[in-house]
Amino acid sequence: MARYIFITGGVVSSLGKGLASAALGALLQARGYSVRLRKLDPYLNVDPGTMSPFEHGEVFVTDDGAETDLDLGHYERFTGVPCRKTDSVSSGRIYTNVLDKERKGDYLGKTIQVIPHVTNEIKDWLAIDDEDVDFMLCEIGGTVGDIEGLPFFEAIRQFQAERPRGQCILMHLTLLPYLAASGELKTKPTQHSVKELRSIGLQPDVLVCRTEHEIPETERAKIGMFCNVRPESVIPAMDMKSIYKAPLAYHEVGLDQAVLDAFSISPAPKPDLTRWNAVAERVDNPDGEVRIAIVGKYVKLEDAYKSLAEALTHGGFHNRVKVRAEWLDAEIFEREDPAPHLEGFNAILVPGGFGERGTEGKIKAAQFARERKIPYLGICLGMQMAVVEAARNLAGVGRAGSQEFDHEDGSDRFEHVVYHMTEWTEGNQTVRRKADDAKGGTMRLGAYAATLADGSQVADIYGGVAIEERHRHRYEVDIKYRQRLEEKGLSFSGMSPDGELPEIVEIPDHPWYIGVQFHPELKSKPFDPHPLFADYIRAAVEQSRLV
Ligand code: GLN
Repeated sequence: MARYIFITGGVVSSLGKGLASAALGALLQARGYSVRLRKLDPYLNVDPGTMSPFEHGEVFVTDDGAETDLDLGHYERFTGVPCRKTDSVSSGRIYTNVLDKERKGDYLGKTIQVIPHVTNEIKDWLAIDDEDVDFMLCEIGGTVGDIEGLPFFEAIRQFQAERPRGQCILMHLTLLPYLAASGELKTKPTQHSVKELRSIGLQPDVLVCRTEHEIPETERAKIGMFCNVRPESVIPAMDMKSIYKAPLAYHEVGLDQAVLDAFSISPAPKPDLTRWNAVAERVDNPDGEVRIAIVGKYVKLEDAYKSLAEALTHGGFHNRVKVRAEWLDAEIFEREDPAPHLEGFNAILVPGGFGERGTEGKIKAAQFARERKIPYLGICLGMQMAVVEAARNLAGVGRAGSQEFDHEDGSDRFEHVVYHMTEWTEGNQTVRRKADDAKGGTMRLGAYAATLADGSQVADIYGGVAIEERHRHRYEVDIKYRQRLEEKGLSFSGMSPDGELPEIVEIPDHPWYIGVQFHPELKSKPFDPHPLFADYIRAAVEQSRLV
């Protein structure tokens, strides 16, 4: 049976709970333990799949095809443990399960209530796979006191009480604001937030206090006393230069020790921090810089492309360079010549996206990269637009476009070089769907295998021909155009194993021009950069030497 660490937050949101959880997971691993991290989100959406990136940031996709919160991306990047469907749950999912059971009559006519029915559903969910690992880290979204969060907090309280003593602990993150006028760190908001927790029957074992200044010993003791936490378990969390220093920084201030103490694990196994020391060394010592232009739609909100930004950073670690990613609004290129905007960048990237807005600009960016021989990486929609560009400008398919855009307004403007997939194989099953299926849950989601062409650039980059990558898309490049495009120099170098679905295109006669139908950024780690990103940044470094 796993030991459970519940991670809650108070005072304000955005304190870095996800990062603290992920860093703690990494530190427990460094001490030889196996871990799994989970996220419980109090919102009522059934999953984040249909939430706007403006609202919620990136949708992170797991191998088993779940659309989840972006914090799961942090978990994977810090621990390397692939998350599962069962590692992310929302109130919406819990209530849906309860109501489905109610309709089926599973509750035998009982009155359905938050306690016990909703809380039982949460507890059952918490217990999934608890035989697998030494530690299960469960982060609760939002802050203590939020109305939607209450059933989760109550479920945790019950769960702790039902498990053997000492098997569960609670770690609470708060903020210590600094008042410049009086030159003091204020502890009152933290005291109040812990009071709120205690009023619902939860006592934190470890307090992580975000602060811009060192916490004086006297204040640490005071927080400990008022919050009923041992002073050595009051952990200061200062801002960091890079998130990848979090494991080392948290280790230095004693977070992992405090957690193991709370479980009475003594003596604690010594940590092996080699991996994180190596990452920190790369963070601190870049040798030069490359500039990457990311041409997209959600350019104002970096969280919408969280994993992408991180994967680029990892590619930088691999090549010992700092990656300066600049986000350009694709729509600008629909009005203006892209050249003055894009000249001076060492590589261009068109990321995934949905909807027609900005796509003509993305096509122009792809064309610029192809013609000027600037390294280009097209991800998902970015690959589709690269294919449309080649179809229009190389293969003479003047009206080339994606069926996605015709579907949007019911028009018939394009020849569908990218078309709507209505049937595909999953394992040994055929999945079918209609064009008008509901928005949620109709995509090709999760890990699928691809076979790379022998001797292709991507086979060289991956160091093999069998790969597996994560997908999240509805539309596909139509292989009907393969021959015409290949004759013009765009080679289909990666295909689904049945040879039906194009997974990768590349231009052999170009320094680096690759489009992928999947999302390689989801699998990149700071200590194990994804090969495509490692090589893309290498190409950008090479390009920077030419200018
Ligand atoms: N909108 C495109 C599709 O559904 C691309 C999706 C994406 O980029 N993730 O196929």
